[in-house]
Amino acid sequence: MRAVSAVEPKRISIEEARRLVGERLVRLPGEEIALDDALGRVLAQDAIVPSDLPPFDSSGMDGFAVIATDTDDAPVALKIVGESRAGMLAQVPVEHGTAIRVSTGAVVPRGADAVVRQELTEIEDGAVIVNEEVTAGNDVRYAGEDIRAGEIILHAGTLLGSAEIGALAAVNIARPVVVRQPRIALVSTGDELVSPGPVLQPGQIRDANAPALTAAVRAAGAQTVTNVRVGDDRGATVATLEGAIDGADIVATVGGVSVGPHDHVRPALEQLGAEQVFCRVSLKPGGQVCFYVAPDGTLAFALPGNPASALTAFRVLVVPAIYGMLGRSLTLHTARGFAETDLPGTIGRTSVIRCHAEMHDDGWHVTPNGDQRSHILTSMLGVPVIALVPEDCEVLRAGEPVDIEFVG
Ligand code: AMP
Ligand code: MG
Repeated sequence: MRAVSAVEPKRISIEEARRLVGERLVRLPGEEIALDDALGRVLAQDAIVPSDLPPFDSSGMDGFAVIATDTDDAPVALKIVGESRAGMLAQVPVEHGTAIRVSTGAVVPRGADAVVRQELTEIEDGAVIVNEEVTAGNDVRYAGEDIRAGEIILHAGTLLGSAEIGALAAVNIARPVVVRQPRIALVSTGDELVSPGPVLQPGQIRDANAPALTAAVRAAGAQTVTNVRVGDDRGATVATLEGAIDGADIVATVGGVSVGPHDHVRPALEQLGAEQVFCRVSLKPGGQVCFYVAPDGTLAFALPGNPASALTAFRVLVVPAIYGMLGRSLTLHTARGFAETDLPGTIGRTSVIRCHAEMHDDGWHVTPNGDQRSHILTSMLGVPVIALVPEDCEVLRAGEPVDIEFVG
């Protein structure tokens, strides 16, 4: 059994840790998918519009297509010579002295250059009486005025939501190329852990981290390919990790990362030839997190076991790694807020405070949600943001600005 050095390495900053992780990750390749499966996926390449949107000049109103100059002396009577309905063209063009009935979204008939909305007209003996003058272009929606053929409608790295999916359908991109979802292997360690269900024996606790991290993986746009638990045993930990590394882009272990006699994750990773990039980050909770790269390039995060520590370290380091593999930017989720009440800090560690947030005129105001110790689960509930209190700050005073990150 190899002992982990008693001298713990220096804590590095969150920024430095993220930079080191960023250096070791690769953008994943693209794959074509159906639009129905595209929600929450990230575009792998720019989406270029094959043809103009809208595809033709159409009416913006129910009414009559006319030649605008015919209405100069309104009120005027124009003979109705046909109809242009949505999806059905008029058979004849509009000529001077005539009009064609049009529906919203129907093609503006040949010859016409304006639409008079129905509310400005009356019908009399097969003619339309136009009561107000209109100018050329009135109530016409022109081809290509939304976006033109050849232009980029969505850039690579865009997260696809409902509006983006609708726009792709509108321009006939039925199978967008999206980045393959990162494959995550979750490994929970601990002889004391039991899944929800059976009666707990003395000393046992429920495994809260595996379900929490499975959900966090999905919320970040990745997929869990392995989700296993292993007892506090060196051989079993090595075997489990070997299997987890195979077929995953990222392995995240939970617990067993300290230097006690029953903490096997770090020596097991080292036995498998993984390179330690850092261990210990200036972060509270969750600072006892180590980052390795396996010989096949798989990233391995050894997260601490306390639920608040595990989820915090996951959000602060693993989510950005997932976003990096997806080519997705994190900036959407970060903001500057203000402390509504004093926020507790710790000299030498960036304190991650689980907070409630309220929008005020000058921005987000954040308030800590109860007991911030790492084994307290309830303070993680219903919090939309974490506030990052810098490591040189013992207390961040009410009213002071603070960096916040929205959590998924
Ligand atoms: P460890 O890092 O293994 O020493 O774990 C630290 C603390 O977190 C211990 O109190 C563990 O019982 C607890 N813990 C570890 N893993 C989990 C888990 N999956 N769910 C809930 N608590 C856990
Ligand atoms: Mg443990």
